[in-house]
Amino acid sequence: MTNPESTPPIAIRLINVKKYFKDRDVEALDGINLEVAQGEFLSLIGPSGSGKSTLLELLGDIGDEGGPTGGEILIEDKTPQELRQARGYGIVFQDSILFPWYRVFENCLLPFRIAKSKLRKEEQVKRIESLLEMVGLDRKFWPYYPKELSGGMQQRVAIVRALALDPPLLLMDEPFGALDDLTRKSMQMLLLDIWAKTRKTILMVTHSISEACFMSDRVVVLSQRPGRIVRMISIPLDRPRDRSMTETKAFARICGMVREALGSGGGAEEDTAIKD
Ligand code: ADP
Repeated sequence: MTNPESTPPIAIRLINVKKYFKDRDVEALDGINLEVAQGEFLSLIGPSGSGKSTLLELLGDIGDEGGPTGGEILIEDKTPQELRQARGYGIVFQDSILFPWYRVFENCLLPFRIAKSKLRKEEQVKRIESLLEMVGLDRKFWPYYPKELSGGMQQRVAIVRALALDPPLLLMDEPFGALDDLTRKSMQMLLLDIWAKTRKTILMVTHSISEACFMSDRVVVLSQRPGRIVRMISIPLDRPRDRSMTETKAFARICGMVREALGSGGGAEEDTAIKD
């Protein structure tokens, strides 16, 4: 964290978490011990198949094969199932997964409907308006259908939808993986800005070493399957982050540490889809 004098409470605690997929006889995760502080920005990086998405699914209680096969997960003192039932997290995927037959604004209001929210309709509308403004989506696009928007705009809407119910935690699975380089960089700055304003705890899966290092407080490096934590790397860059930081020697050194950790975890083969 940026201020070493304050110790924020723990938001997420994983104790010796394992995940074994019986149907395919795959051991996806093994012995994951991790604590994430409230308001921390943490990235997960590892080779394809190292269990990154599985870990997010376990946290969000959305896997189709139940919870962990070993260990314990606590988020804001709740089990993942309790957290999901309390709408305690928002999630953003690589594909924005907006409903094509709803307009932007209706897509953003959906979480209130699904949660049968007791918040008055005017309050819901006000909240979505201010979130759409925060992500910089011009008003003229609010009545558009998703297919009429660019990929970057769709991800802005997906972020608004994830934040609609004001959850303390954001889970993000390669949120910018499908965007072109320029859009991706502007979305990174946008997310950092949102994070600074809202102080959410963010857990982001990424394949990009530079994205992980530029955005995070800490980067967790997973090994090849079964995913184990090879290394946790604190990123000693000041906040707010500035794109020029990525041109410094310090940044190159940090990225080098992550790359080396990926290598030592058996994840640096040419075909592991680790970029940069
Ligand atoms: P990553 O996100 O790091 O690429 P995943 O979490 O998607 O890795 O997958 C980890 C391993 O678990 C892979 O071998 C994958 O095939 C397997 N796996 C993921 N989900 C399931 C599932 N629902 N059933 C069976 N195996 C799965």
